[in-house]
Amino acid sequence: MENKDTIKKCKKHNEEFKYTLFGYCCVSCYNENLIKNKDICENFVNCRNLKQKTKHLFIEKYPNNILILYSYGYHFPLSIKLLDNTILINSNGYSNTTARHKGNLCRALGFNGFKDVEQNKGEDILIFSTSQLKEILEKGFKNKSEIAESKI
Ligand SMILES: [Zn+2]
Repeated sequence: MENKDTIKKCKKHNEEFKYTLFGYCCVSCYNENLIKNKDICENFVNCRNLKQKTKHLFIEKYPNNILILYSYGYHFPLSIKLLDNTILINSNGYSNTTARHKGNLCRALGFNGFKDVEQNKGEDILIFSTSQLKEILEKGFKNKSEIAESKI
């Protein structure tokens, strides 16, 4: 018998249910489901689960199909993944947290076969400022050669 006055408890953790981002569940279930920033970076690098987001990190697919990883909001594109798989990384620091997000991203790139993340010598990773990245977005560039020709 279901009594609406009974406080629901999680069968797995025996904790009271609360309203969370993931619906009505217990805090332990919430923590198990909590998506980590590093997962978002992995998703970005691997073009998967693009709808997942954390409080401060989210991915958007641009109309021309390139991917953008935003940190905190649209004012700070942390990284762009072009159609030729080139990764553009923002050289500007916005806060300590942004720096941590960048660390998450660099680790995800390293785990997925990208080279020279730190040294900026790689063919597959290029470093740009926030304003340069926004210009690249505005102009709708889709690959490395379009950017090279534009002299951004
Ligand atoms: Zn639970």
